[in-house]
Amino acid sequence: MRTIYDLNLKQMEEMLGTLGQKPYRAKQLYTWLYRKHVLSFDEMSDLPAALIAQLKESFCIMPLKLVEKQVAKDLTTKYLFELTDGSTVETVLMHFSFGESVCVTSQVGCNMSCAFCASGLLKKQRDLTSGEITGQIMFIQKELDEVEKRVDNVVVMGTGEPFDNYDNVLSFCSTINSDHGLAIGARHITISTCGVVPKIKEFAKGHYQYNLAISLHAPYDELRRQLMPIDQAYPLDVLMSALKEYSENNNRRLTFEYILLKGVNDHDKDAIALADLIRGMNAYVNLIPYNEVDENGFRTCDTKTALHFYDVLMKHGVKATLRTRHGEDIDAACGQLRARHERTKA
Ligand code: SAH
Repeated sequence: MRTIYDLNLKQMEEMLGTLGQKPYRAKQLYTWLYRKHVLSFDEMSDLPAALIAQLKESFCIMPLKLVEKQVAKDLTTKYLFELTDGSTVETVLMHFSFGESVCVTSQVGCNMSCAFCASGLLKKQRDLTSGEITGQIMFIQKELDEVEKRVDNVVVMGTGEPFDNYDNVLSFCSTINSDHGLAIGARHITISTCGVVPKIKEFAKGHYQYNLAISLHAPYDELRRQLMPIDQAYPLDVLMSALKEYSENNNRRLTFEYILLKGVNDHDKDAIALADLIRGMNAYVNLIPYNEVDENGFRTCDTKTALHFYDVLMKHGVKATLRTRHGEDIDAACGQLRARHERTKA
């Protein structure tokens, strides 16, 4: 059964119109769902009983069931959810000084086949609907209600390639961003893509205020192609010119994600080439310590090398940050989602 979270405000108004209801009912429903966080239609006490009965016939509210929850030493929490068709997805909650951050999954499996990533070990089975992505936020928000906290930041960086499920991901963002809903500020929402150029161009034209992060991981095509097959379809010059177009159309700072892989992309020459590639852009590099995955041979680069790489970038005129790890001990860190569950199932 479809979840009501799938409907953005306009779609909600349309749906209610087909049931002979006035448009203001949509805002009432939105308030129940996203302000009061109710999980049953029966609680919506200002809606007519007949409407509640109709809604119950066509929609569920929460499309996810919790299968397993693990809490790491740093309190990062990993949720394994089952969808209504039996597929499973993972979501991660991280506690930062700047607030509660949720990393959502956008697809069941992933087709991008990045060599270092554990999420893509399972090929894409299907896209998540926008409501299934919203459900991940609402499930966690419901838990945070107990401690009077709210989801402050959202990153679309779980399993899947968001720009391979563009419409649903953008619809999800508009639902959680809506003033009538959770009202999570656009600047607190980040979409990360491996570089699906046509969608980057579409995104640029939409003038969205969401943050855009690009998984770069190598400053030249020879290497990037080995790590990320998407580079064959959209090589670096094509990617960079789309990003320049984005920057010209939107006054937003871009993030480049760069995983440091020992002996692969962590040399001085790599840092210099990376700096040459992005110098002058309104952008910074987020250096990511690699979380090792059993199924491939990549290793984490040591802290000394990471700090040196950071220094070389800064010296060559490019701003960078070094990401800290979260939830490593429970396999919740980037790229490790779900793989362990699949292994234990097998
Ligand atoms: N498909 C999107 C979003 C999911 S991946 C993308 O490619 O951006 C989110 C980030 O985690 C990406 O930068 C990805 O390259 C990185 N990542 C994947 N596996 C990782 C691993 N094992 N260790 C650290 N980062 C990883």
